[in-house]
Amino acid sequence: MINYKIEIADAHAHLFQLTLTIPAPAETQALSLPVWIPGSYMVREFSRHLGGLQARQGSRAVALRQTSKCSWEARCSGRGALVVSYQVYAFDSSVRAAFLDAQRGFFNGASLCLRAHGKEAQSHGIELAGLPEGWQVATSMTATGALSYQAADYDELIDHPVELGRFWRGEFSAAGVPHQLVVSGALPVFDGTRLLADAQRICEAQIALWHGERRGAVPPFGRYVFLLNAVDEGYGGLEHRASTALIAARRDLPVLGQQEVSDGYLRLLGLISHEYFHTWNVKRLRPDTFASFDYSQENYTELLWFFEGFTSYYDDLMLRRCGLIDEARYLKLLSATISAVLAVPGRKQQSLAQASFDAWIRYYRQDENTPNSTVSYYAKGALLALALDLSLRSQSQGASRSASLDEVMRQLWQRSGGGPISEADILAVVAEAGGAALAEELRRWVHGTEDLPLPALLERVGVRWCSDKASLAQRLGLRVSETDGIRVKQVLQGSAALAGGLAAGDEILACNSWRLRKLDEALQTLAPERLSQMALLVARDQRVLSLNLCLPLEAQAGAPVRLSPAEKAPARALGLRRAWLGS
Ligand SMILES: [Zn+2]
Repeated sequence: MINYKIEIADAHAHLFQLTLTIPAPAETQALSLPVWIPGSYMVREFSRHLGGLQARQGSRAVALRQTSKCSWEARCSGRGALVVSYQVYAFDSSVRAAFLDAQRGFFNGASLCLRAHGKEAQSHGIELAGLPEGWQVATSMTATGALSYQAADYDELIDHPVELGRFWRGEFSAAGVPHQLVVSGALPVFDGTRLLADAQRICEAQIALWHGERRGAVPPFGRYVFLLNAVDEGYGGLEHRASTALIAARRDLPVLGQQEVSDGYLRLLGLISHEYFHTWNVKRLRPDTFASFDYSQENYTELLWFFEGFTSYYDDLMLRRCGLIDEARYLKLLSATISAVLAVPGRKQQSLAQASFDAWIRYYRQDENTPNSTVSYYAKGALLALALDLSLRSQSQGASRSASLDEVMRQLWQRSGGGPISEADILAVVAEAGGAALAEELRRWVHGTEDLPLPALLERVGVRWCSDKASLAQRLGLRVSETDGIRVKQVLQGSAALAGGLAAGDEILACNSWRLRKLDEALQTLAPERLSQMALLVARDQRVLSLNLCLPLEAQAGAPVRLSPAEKAPARALGLRRAWLGS
């Protein structure tokens, strides 16, 4: 067994001490650290935090030769175990790497555990040592002792993040499977009982979605662990085969005595729902190119619109279906997603398949040009799932079995055995459920840049689509931050802001000779007879510029959208809406 001893070397210096033992090394034993972690599609070069690398066999020092930014070779002789020691600097507060201070520790194996090439299929063990008194450990990895754990292979080893410290923990059961929820950093007023109860509803609804309501339907894992780190500011999650690491703002946690679902708590429930859904959709059902991972470079797929987008569709939908939010609240969330996609000119530049493929250099490396050159495979992918679901539901008139996206997901799961799938597999199942024409339409939605026919599809299920009032920033076609003056973050293509010469980085000082502190104050400076004229004073690179903008009446790049239940919809539409939203 490949074994890693992981010790806290110096919490104040954020250093883990690693001792890797390879019982029967190759003559030239290659070692490397992944450059990325599955689920987060960006090359992160974890090896930049590794230091003090040494190797020995018995008492003999073994020479190590570095062969790339993240790999080494050890020249071994004889049969003795190779023992490699090194330190890893861990001060990344995200869910993707490793963190250590005197209050808390967290790590993903991808940040800490060197891969012993040629030995990946062997079982891998972890032994923790040097934990401060009172610290607990939480992980979905199989425990073999008080502080020791074992994984079947290297892939599994790095797919069980580990939380260390003093934390709140609770348990619940869903479909008979034990679930553990661990919360670090919660305030004393945190209502853990409520979070457990709400998470349980989400988990049970999702297990039923994938495996049906029949008794004895069990998910493809024997135990599941939520690792939630509550912080001052933060949001995110990373999915794993039997756990998820989450980060959320402390204020978004439920508070004792609070009954309603605050917007912040709703965001947290959506995150829990999203990451849990991934346990099926991307961890097991996954792109064919992810059948086995190459940890040394980018792993491309055109299918993130399915694995992230469809997961994003179901995350909020499951909150509605399990009764945590009502129909109006759900439609409000959907309105926000639609508005966000329509506000982005990049949706005309990039297809969902291209956005998926380019995730490594675009979605994960956003800059001021992002909204002009890309579309989010999360947001537009979720809308594509909506369009597909509504198409299936509304055309299944008279069919003995009603079609839906739920059925498509279950079919894909069953046919692949919960394994790798291709775009052709998805299209084939859609063709069976909704006909060849719908499959062809789906192919165009994935590879084209046309807007989805959502207004018509929503009407079929009794949901009204209205344009909402655009803000001044939306009418001008720019995005600003107002924390330190009015700073232009992004200028949208085809916008009045672009035509007038505004650029990212500009600080907007004044409009029509009036000093501004917030952009919206500019509305008060417009003369009634010249409502469209904005003479802006702008600071750019120490120079002050005068720019003349012509303010349009409406937002040019997609006005915000508001969805509402149609009061006088036909009975069939109301029936479809009830079936869709589980009301
Ligand atoms: Zn996701």
